[in-house]
Amino acid sequence: MDLGIRGRRGLVCAASKGLGRGCAEALAAAGVDLVINSRTESEIAQTAQQIADRHGVRVTPVAADITTDEGRAKVLAQVDQADILVTNAGGPPPGTWTDWNRDDFIRAIDANMLSAIALMQALVPGMMDRGWGRVVNITSQSVRSPIAVLGLSNTARAGLTGFVAGMARQVAGDGVCVNNILPGIHATDRADSLDKAVSQQQGIGMEEARRQRQSGIPTGTYGQPEDFGATCAFLCSEHAKFIVGQNILLDGGALNVTI
Ligand code: NAP
Repeated sequence: MDLGIRGRRGLVCAASKGLGRGCAEALAAAGVDLVINSRTESEIAQTAQQIADRHGVRVTPVAADITTDEGRAKVLAQVDQADILVTNAGGPPPGTWTDWNRDDFIRAIDANMLSAIALMQALVPGMMDRGWGRVVNITSQSVRSPIAVLGLSNTARAGLTGFVAGMARQVAGDGVCVNNILPGIHATDRADSLDKAVSQQQGIGMEEARRQRQSGIPTGTYGQPEDFGATCAFLCSEHAKFIVGQNILLDGGALNVTI
């Protein structure tokens, strides 16, 4: 399917690997020129080169922490025009609800709520002026179904989801579609580190920890970043113009609900 976005320009945050990279690869395959970001200079430069070589689009790497004002300013300085924005950042660490203090909450809210909002505030007005835009926020399945040890994530991402629910409907009339994708467990470094936490907590091996976590997913597998990216690219496509303010859950059926 031609996604109808060849020649568009996009920013994908936290994209040297994992889900962000999956999105960047799929958008590049659809012909989108990209600015991509992550903190580690050598890794983001290498990823940009690989994506550009594979798909024949322009890919500009920016090494910066997207959760800080300075980092976002550095990234935005490289964005000439953004038709497409994919917000993403690392997730908060696991823990226990009694242990988190104000600083922990502020860090999580900065990373997984306010940085996405700031990027939308910076780039969506231009999309509205031009009459076309797509935003995908990478959130989490924890928005629909809380993950106890990831309370910082549950909290911050619920806030972002509330913001998007209102704002998406305010900008749709100007051709801008804003949606969230909620990943269930995907095979990335993040999943490895959460497998490791389960393995340490329960004194079991990594394979057993993974088997336990996979057993809660009807597909019996973790999701793949490539498939996640393809969904993101579709939401950024011309065809997605009637999809507004939605929360698309990609979890292999793990959430056991009727609708
Ligand atoms: P990942 O494989 O660990 O990749 C994270 C990427 O983000 C890397 O490129 C990393 O590069 C970059 N990054 C991290 N912090 C950053 C920051 N402050 N500024 C800029 N770039 C940053 O993680 P993932 O699995 O793709 O997860 C992406 C998001 O989805 C996370 O918020 C995660 O919590 C959420 N999520 C993931 C899953 C899952 O199962 N994978 C499930 C639910 C939710 P650098 O370290 O070099 O910056």
